[in-house]
Amino acid sequence: MRNGNDHFPPDSQFIIIIILTPFSLCVFLFLIKGNTEEAGRLLGSKNVRVNCLDEHGMTPLMHAAYKGKVDMCRLLLRHGADVNCNEHEHGYTALMFAGLSGNKEITWMMLEAGAETDVVNSVGRTAAQMAAFVGQHDCVTVINNFFPRERLDYYTKPQGLDKEPKLPVKLAGPLHKIITTTNMHPVKIVLLVKENPLLAEVEALQKCYRVLDLICEKCMKQKDMNEVLAMKMHYISCIFQKCITFLKEREDKLDGFIKSLLKGRDKDGFPVYQEKLIRESIRKFPYCEATLLQQLVRSIAPVEIGSDPTAFSVLTQAITGQVGFVDAEFCTTCGGKGADKRCSVCKMVIYCDQNCQKIHWFTHKKVCKILKEIHEKQELEAAKEKRKQEKKQKKDEMQLVEGSSTSEQQSDSDPDPTKEMDPNHPTEGTEEPEFTKEMEALALQPESPLESESGSHDDTKREDLKILNFRKVLFYQI
Ligand SMILES: [Zn+2]
Ligand SMILES: [Zn+2]
Repeated sequence: MRNGNDHFPPDSQFIIIIILTPFSLCVFLFLIKGNTEEAGRLLGSKNVRVNCLDEHGMTPLMHAAYKGKVDMCRLLLRHGADVNCNEHEHGYTALMFAGLSGNKEITWMMLEAGAETDVVNSVGRTAAQMAAFVGQHDCVTVINNFFPRERLDYYTKPQGLDKEPKLPVKLAGPLHKIITTTNMHPVKIVLLVKENPLLAEVEALQKCYRVLDLICEKCMKQKDMNEVLAMKMHYISCIFQKCITFLKEREDKLDGFIKSLLKGRDKDGFPVYQEKLIRESIRKFPYCEATLLQQLVRSIAPVEIGSDPTAFSVLTQAITGQVGFVDAEFCTTCGGKGADKRCSVCKMVIYCDQNCQKIHWFTHKKVCKILKEIHEKQELEAAKEKRKQEKKQKKDEMQLVEGSSTSEQQSDSDPDPTKEMDPNHPTEGTEEPEFTKEMEALALQPESPLESESGSHDDTKREDLKILNFRKVLFYQI
């Protein structure tokens, strides 16, 4: 294996890349240690090539992306760095390095600069798949939900024989906001529609959903098919069409739609209408042959309504690339991530804020008490279990003290938590060779980019690799 350390001493202030051309020995930059001023000065001089390569085929932009250097990436792009340069020995692109680094801002920057998302590396993985592989799910979400504004603006100009554009200019902004949202909870989408009076009208929504359908079709028919984006467009289109129905037929208009989406059934408050609507939207996806559709249907169909996983969580996983989606982290009303305000009575539902709680109260109040009882029961059982575990641990420790065991036993128990965390713990070894290959490809990366400032970050990545190797079942592969 090559050792990048020979070429990139980790402690040096400046990293010099020497490239031998047939004509001359050109000495090029490069400093990754954060001195953008110096870099700017160097990049301004004639002899410096911004797209030069090191012996692994990495450009300065790739290095900066992998090191998470936001300013440096910006500077390089400004000086004409080629975001789609594909000379890396394992076919990695700058976007892949950005995804591996876990830096959302850089990932976004690469996409804005025109990075292609469908390019695969030597082990056949896209940037989103590589990011997912090392557990950088926020970057996966950024990549999977990126949609350049220009692609939407195309519809704001009359095309072909059209007398007027398919999408009025004033709608492009609000529609783009919805398209790029990473929270696809139906209530959130309706709230986004509602917050913009221009959009919350039958005619406007009709124009928008037709444009979404056109984009969906394009995504499926273009050379580099994008099923994820197609599904997302189709899904939002379905929600818009339902908005139209409520605007036309109900006096309480979109508020009525939100209420229908949240209304829980009597026994446990489960929102049956919402579940059915999302299932129906997925089923109505017009391209039956799509792998993503088949995967979604396979995941959802056997699940009884009211059980886990919900159609929303399955869809979100597919579209954002999040693995290990836990409902408990998301607002009960709008699906907002990182919600942490619990209902003070039952402690079973969480919300972003009081507003979300208010919207949900009309239906939650009917089951709050029942949920409280369930919660208390669960707490009791958890406490019992904990006591049992503690007892067992004590007993084990006693045995250890008695001297019969060696430290080997301890290391044996290490992988267990990983197994527990993963309900899909795979056992069949069919995918092993491919994964081993992938692991090798990762290990073959020059070492300098791996040496991020914080060693712990790096350790986390390696840990992620270990865990992911355990899992093998990777949803993003669709
Ligand atoms: Zn919320
Ligand atoms: Zn409650």
